[in-house]
Amino acid sequence: MQDDARARPLRIDADRAAGTVRLEWADGHQTTYDATTLRWLCPCAYCRGEAGLPGWLDSNPTLTADQTKLVGLVLVGNYAVQPTWGDGHDSGFHSFMLLREQCPCDACAADRARRQADDGGQPSASAGDRHWHGGKG
Ligand SMILES: [Zn+2]
Ligand SMILES: [Zn+2]
Repeated sequence: MQDDARARPLRIDADRAAGTVRLEWADGHQTTYDATTLRWLCPCAYCRGEAGLPGWLDSNPTLTADQTKLVGLVLVGNYAVQPTWGDGHDSGFHSFMLLREQCPCDACAADRARRQADDGGQPSASAGDRHWHGGKG
C-alpha cells in the first residue's frame, strides 16, 4: 500500500511563543498540535515505559508548566521530530507516522474512535483462531 504521503510532512512550523506545532502533509491534510498534547505523546522509554513496564506518563502525572513548554524542535533524519521541553526532557523522537496517526483534528479523532469501536468486540487473545479473512475465499 502506497500510503506514505499521509506520513510525509511538506512543512513543519514550530511556534514556540504560541506553543504549537503545525504540520502540512503531502496528501494535503493539516495537523496542529498544542504543546501539552505533544508532550503527552512523548514516545520515549521513560515516558512510555519499556519491556512491559509502565512509563512515567502512564502514572498520569500532573505536568508542570515547564514540562509542557516547548523550547525547541529539531528534525531527526527524515522520519521524526525531537522536541525539547522546559524541564530539559528531550529523549522523545516523535515519528511522522505517530504524529499523523494521533492527529488531534476532529476528522482524525472521529476516525480513530470508529476504528476502536470496530476492534472493540475482539479480545486480542483470540486473534489466533479467529483471523479476519476479509471475505469468503
Ligand atoms: Zn519522554
Ligand atoms: Zn487530522
